[in-house]
Amino acid sequence: MKIGIDLGGTKIECVVISQDNHIIFRERLPTPKGDYLGILDSIESLVNKTLPYAPHNTPIGIGIPGTLSSDTGTIKNANTTCLIGEPLDQDLAVMLNRPIKLANDANCFIWSEFCDGAAKGKTNAFGVIIGTGVGGGLVVNHQLVNGLNGIAGEWGHNPLPHFGLEQRPCYCSKEDCVETYLSGPAFEKSFLDASPQTTATSVGSEEIVSLARIGDPLAKQHLDNYAKMLAASLTSVINIVDPDIIVLGGGMSNIDELYELVPKYLQEYVFSDTIHTPIVKAKHGDSSGVRGAAWLWNE
Ligand SMILES: [Zn+2]
Repeated sequence: MKIGIDLGGTKIECVVISQDNHIIFRERLPTPKGDYLGILDSIESLVNKTLPYAPHNTPIGIGIPGTLSSDTGTIKNANTTCLIGEPLDQDLAVMLNRPIKLANDANCFIWSEFCDGAAKGKTNAFGVIIGTGVGGGLVVNHQLVNGLNGIAGEWGHNPLPHFGLEQRPCYCSKEDCVETYLSGPAFEKSFLDASPQTTATSVGSEEIVSLARIGDPLAKQHLDNYAKMLAASLTSVINIVDPDIIVLGGGMSNIDELYELVPKYLQEYVFSDTIHTPIVKAKHGDSSGVRGAAWLWNE
C-alpha cells in the first residue's frame, strides 16, 4: 500500500494505492486559505480516513507547491505562501507518527508518469506542468533529480526567449519568466491584450482554442504564437538535458494542437539537424501529482 497526498492551492487530495497499482481510496478537502495549522488539520483528517484501507504505519508521500530548503529544512518557493518557512515534513511526521517524504508537485507529476505513465520504459524524462502556474520535473537515469538547491526542472522561471513582447513581472520577483507567458491565465491575458477592440474583461483558454478551431484569424495566430513560445522555452531544456521524452500536464496540456505545432517549431530552434524528442500528453491527467506523491517511497 502507498499513500499519496497532493497539497494544492485550492484542494488537498489523498489517495491510497493498492499493491497492484489501483487507487482504492480517494478523498479531497478544500485547502484552508492562508492557514498553515488548518492545512495540517485537513491532512490529518484525510489520513485518518485511510485507516480502513492502509495500515497505520503506511509511509506517506506529499506533493507540495514548492520545495524544501536544504539550508533551513523549511518550505520555500511555494505560491501557497503560508507554507513558506514552515517545517511541513517534520510537523506532519510528529502529528501522524509515521515517515513523510515531500517533493515538489511537478516532480511528483513526472515521477508518476515515469513509473507507470506516458514515460514508462524511458531512461530520462522531463515533465512540464502548464496550468495556473508553470513548473517542471526531471528524471535522469531512472532517478528523480532534486538538485543542489532543490529546484531541478524549474524551467518556468527561466526568462522566456524574447519575442518582442511587453515585459511582465512575475510573482517570484523576476521579470519575463516563462510562466508569465505560458500559464493558462497568461494565455488569456495575451489574447485580450492583442484584441484592442474587445470590451470583454475576461476570456477562457477553451474559448480561445474554440475560436482558433473555427478559423478566427486572431485566435489562430495566438495559439500558434503560444506553441512557438513553448517550443522556444523547451529548447533550453532539450539543449541541456536532451531527454528521451517530454510529458505535458496541467490544463493547457489538453490543447491537442500543441502536439503538432510544438514539434514543428522545435525543428527550428533546437541545436540539432533532426529532433526526435516525443512531446506527449500525461497518461494519468490530473491524478499524476497525487499518484507520483504515493510513488515517492519507491524512488
Ligand atoms: Zn518567476
